[in-house]
Amino acid sequence: MIASPSVAEPRVDGSPDAWPGAAWADEVRRLARRRGAVILAHNYQLPAIQDIADHTGDSLALSRIAAESDASTIVFCGVHFMAETAKILSPHKTVLIPDARAGCSLADSITADQLREWKAEYPDAVVVSYVNTTAAVKAETDICCTSSNAVEVVASIPADREVLFLPDQFLGAHVRRVLGRENMHVWAGECHVHAGINGATLTAKAEANPDAELFVHPECGCATSALYLAGTGAVPADRVKILSTGGMLDAARASQASSVLVATEIGMLHQLRKAAPEIDFRAVNDRASCRYMKMITPEKLLRALREGRDEVHVDPELAARGRAAVQRMIEIGQPGGGE
Ligand code: SF4
Repeated sequence: MIASPSVAEPRVDGSPDAWPGAAWADEVRRLARRRGAVILAHNYQLPAIQDIADHTGDSLALSRIAAESDASTIVFCGVHFMAETAKILSPHKTVLIPDARAGCSLADSITADQLREWKAEYPDAVVVSYVNTTAAVKAETDICCTSSNAVEVVASIPADREVLFLPDQFLGAHVRRVLGRENMHVWAGECHVHAGINGATLTAKAEANPDAELFVHPECGCATSALYLAGTGAVPADRVKILSTGGMLDAARASQASSVLVATEIGMLHQLRKAAPEIDFRAVNDRASCRYMKMITPEKLLRALREGRDEVHVDPELAARGRAAVQRMIEIGQPGGGE
């Protein structure tokens, strides 16, 4: 534990606009320096956390930054499976998450036992797991994928091999539709936040904003609807972009649109507005906020740096197997961003 002079308690009301103050920011930077820590924040974190972090990005990009960093300690402001992935890729570093209870409904939608049972039904199948999975599930996986490269990863598997794709049913449906692959079985998991951004909401917003582009995360319940709308001509196809969070930032910088509707967790709006301040970004569903992501508060970040908690541990044997699945993905193609 690192002792520190008293600092005014940060204002932590959970509101996205809460700014905990300059004293908090100074103290976070001072403690991070003393601990030799790099602070990483996912795009869905509270704005104050995103702004204080050394790097903000999607889950896989952050894990790769963690592995390449000289820092001996990684403070991962995101949800638990993301911190685990950082630990898998950086087994000799200390990985801290400010609240280990920050879970993920998508990662929790399949356990390693359930996956082993599913594999027993299809013993010759290749298992493809989205990076939103626990270390124990990654250890049972042949190849990981992100939302950027899921199509490429599945396409790399010989056409006569069956595929078990997990855990996200919307991403799986997107891949199956793009590849027209029949021998692909998709686990019926979902993220409660993205599933709540549905086709009806998207259609209503698209109709009310006829000039706006649509940025849709493939985990969304509306990804199918967005492609359908484009296919029927209800929304011009070039207005609909199915993108990972990292892809959204690239698309924002390149866009000529004056307004963009964004279908993903609302924390993403902060980075998009910073990337392209001239564009009017609006959430398709402004209640799409991940309660797990928002468990990482300014106060808990300070505590993590002061007390060195919560430390993330992954069994070395599981980590080695999970690392092999992540590395196979990287060998197949540009992984781009995870969630
Ligand atoms: S937004 Fe969904 S997938 Fe992302 S961390 Fe939250 S529950 Fe998990």
